[in-house]
Order: sequence, then C-alpha cells, then structure tokens
Amino acid sequence: MALIVQKYGGTSVGTVERIQSVADRVLKSVQRGDSVVVVVSAMSGETNRLIEMARSIQSEPAPRELDMLVATGEQVTIALLSMALQQRGQDARSYTGAQVPVLTDSEHTKARIKSINTETIKSDLAAGRVVVVAGFQGVDKHGQITTLGRGGSDTSAVALAAALKADECQIYTDVDGVYTTDPRVVPKARRLDRITFEEMLEMASLGSKVLQIRSVEFAGKYNVPLRVMSSFEDGPGTLITLEDENVEEPVISGIAFHKDEAQLTVKGVPDSPGIAYQLLGPIGDANIEVDMILQNVGADDGADFTFTVHRADFDNALKLLRETAEKLGAREVSGNHNIVKISLVGVGMRSHAGVASKMFRVLSDEKINIRMIATSEIKISVVIDDKYLELAVRALHDAFELDTPEVSLN
Ligand code: ADP
Ligand code: ASP
Ligand code: MG
Repeated sequence: MALIVQKYGGTSVGTVERIQSVADRVLKSVQRGDSVVVVVSAMSGETNRLIEMARSIQSEPAPRELDMLVATGEQVTIALLSMALQQRGQDARSYTGAQVPVLTDSEHTKARIKSINTETIKSDLAAGRVVVVAGFQGVDKHGQITTLGRGGSDTSAVALAAALKADECQIYTDVDGVYTTDPRVVPKARRLDRITFEEMLEMASLGSKVLQIRSVEFAGKYNVPLRVMSSFEDGPGTLITLEDENVEEPVISGIAFHKDEAQLTVKGVPDSPGIAYQLLGPIGDANIEVDMILQNVGADDGADFTFTVHRADFDNALKLLRETAEKLGAREVSGNHNIVKISLVGVGMRSHAGVASKMFRVLSDEKINIRMIATSEIKISVVIDDKYLELAVRALHDAFELDTPEVSLN
C-alpha cells in the first residue's frame, strides 16, 4: 500500500464534470489500495477573476485582503471534490490550508511554508478517508490567511508529500508530462520520460510554468519522487529524478522562455568603481529583482549598462533609473519591454562544448539579433525581440533535434 499525494490543477477541476472525473481517478487509486491525499487548485480562471474584481475597486489592494479573497477559489473545489467522492461511497474530508494547518511566514501573496501539521491528515487516512486539501494557501502564526504565489498549489502538494513522507507526488495537469518546450508553442515538442531536479529547476526558473519553481526546490531538497502527468488520459508522465550516473544525459533537455521581462539601458555613465552599485542599489531597495546584467566600457565616453527586470516592475524601475542617471550625469536612459528571454537547459552541457556557438549560429541563420547573453553550467539564455519568439524556439528545437531522443552537435 502506497501513500500518494495527487495534485489537480485549474483546468483539471475547471467544471463540475471535470471534478467528477477527478473523483473517478482518485477512486481508482484508492481501489488499488493506496492512501490518497488530494490537493486542488481553484477552477481555471477563478484566481484571475478574483484578482480583477479586487483591482476594479483598488489598483493596489492590501495583500492581506487579496489573500483573504483569492483563498476562496480553492475552498470551492475542495468541497465539491469531497462531495463527488462521498457520492461515490468514498469517505472524504476537505480542509483549507488554515485547518490543516499549513503554517507559513507572513509574506502575504508570496508566503513560504514553514511547517505542516500532519496529525489530522494521518488520522483521517487511518480511518480510510481521502483527504482533500486546498492548494496555494496557508496560515501564519497570527492566524492570518496567506497564499504562496501564483501556481502555488504545486508547492502545497510537494510540501505535503515531504511532510507525510509520501511514496510519490503526482502533479495532474492539462499536458501529459514535461515537454522539451511548451507544446503550445512548438507542436513537435516531445514528452520527456524523465528530467533531473536540477534541469527542471532551471526550466521552471527560466519560464516553463508547468511546475512552480518553489515546488521543484522542495522536491529536490526533500527528495520527493515527483511525477507530472495528464488528468485527462492515462500514461507514465514525466518523472523528475536525481541525476543517474548510469544514464547518458542528453546535451539539451529542453528550451524554456520568459515573456515577462523588460530591458533597461543607461548609456554614458562614468566608468568608475561603485557604478553598478549606485545604479542597481535603488532598484534592489525597491524590492525589484534584477535578472540579467550587461556592462560595456566604451572608448572615451564612459560605460553602458543594461539589465532586465520583470515586466510588471518596468515602469517603477525606469523611474528609479532615470533619477539615478540624472545624479550621475549619464547621457541617456532607455527601456524596452518588447523582449523575451529564451534558454537552452541541459545537464549534458557540462561535458559538451559548442552548444553556445551552435545556438548563435541558428539565430544568425534566422537573422535574429541577440540583445543579451547569459550562461551558467547547465543553461544558456539569450534576450531577443519578442516578435521572434516562436521562430527562434522552433528553429532551436529543430536544430538541436529535440523531437528525437538523440542529440547531435553538428
Ligand atoms: P495547472 O493549472 O494544471 O497547474 P499550468 O497551466 O500551471 O497547469 O501548467 C501546465 C501548462 O504548462 C501546459 O498547458 C503548458 O502550456 C505549459 N508548459 C510550459 N512549458 C512546458 C513544458 N516544458 N512542458 C509541459 N508544459 C509546459
Ligand atoms: N489558483 C492559484 C493560481 O491560479 C494557484 C494554482 O493554481 O496553483 O495561481
Ligand atoms: Mg500550475
């Protein structure tokens, strides 16, 4: 008998009919003899609908109230799923994050899980019940309702699996696994049988929203066996694993992209110590995360400095940069939010040279200009104009032959 945590995302519980199918799927596991804890998201579109309503009243709603509001989405689906299970003769109980309790810090709208009390869940399981837990939400030590950031139900599921020492955490979604790239953009994308935690973490951080970043971090840290699979059809899905020394890793496992970045440039700043700190200090102080950074030193008229931030922070970052640039006597400040970041990810890159030059050649053949480049041990990212996103991802997917399991470097 295994203990399984199953998470169903928004599309999988998007209608009452779909909730009925989820109940059937949960029941199948129970009939196989497994103990099942289910984590659900809100119905698809619901969290967005709630946020829009809030913003129609206040442009920047208080985070506490926003959490109070959006947490209702998941409260609907836990109750409906429990009813559907009970209707099938299966004893089931729903719990909000606060009832479990899933204890978090007090950072409303982006809280982190600190601990989970598994006592109630364990005694329900022992009594033969299916336990249905609201994803995305928790409670802080003062009893305030918190949420874990968009896509946070993945993290709720993995954290519960870690706390319960579950045999597997299954993430059921609207695709049948993790693909070489977003199958909505590249129809030829191929499902991966397995991907390492490290690669999945890079893919998620670089824009593949199939799993929330934090959930992959958690799974890696607590070694939770994690599988992404379809809630609409049966299949093996994708297993996220530790690196296996006996298996030859492909050079490139996948291509991720991020549409939500924006680029800021300041030209003609003095080329002297402390400049990067002076330019980026106020941005960091305003809690704006800086992603890629590039500095060029010109022949005589100082340095040029370019960096990227999340598109939502663009206006604020540009305003701050203008203020600093004026103080420093810089020549020009400009911004561009029509850019995207595309990244190749693969642990096999560690032992293979030539990936970067091949990437640049492919983009050059397509006459796509590269604005910025960043590399690390297992990834290469480029920033290009957003109008070339699909062309670039498809050309790279073809050139690296990601639609076939073997990868060539020629
Ligand atoms: P859920 O509501 O179940 O949490 P999400 O929309 O958060 O589902 O995640 C699933 C989506 O992730 C897919 O529909 C797909 O478009 C997208 N996606 C992005 N990159 C990938 C990838 N590499 N593999 C699979 N899906 C991906
Ligand atoms: N309902 C939340 C969201 O839309 C959490 C989740 O779906 O994982 O972000
Ligand atoms: Mg999701």
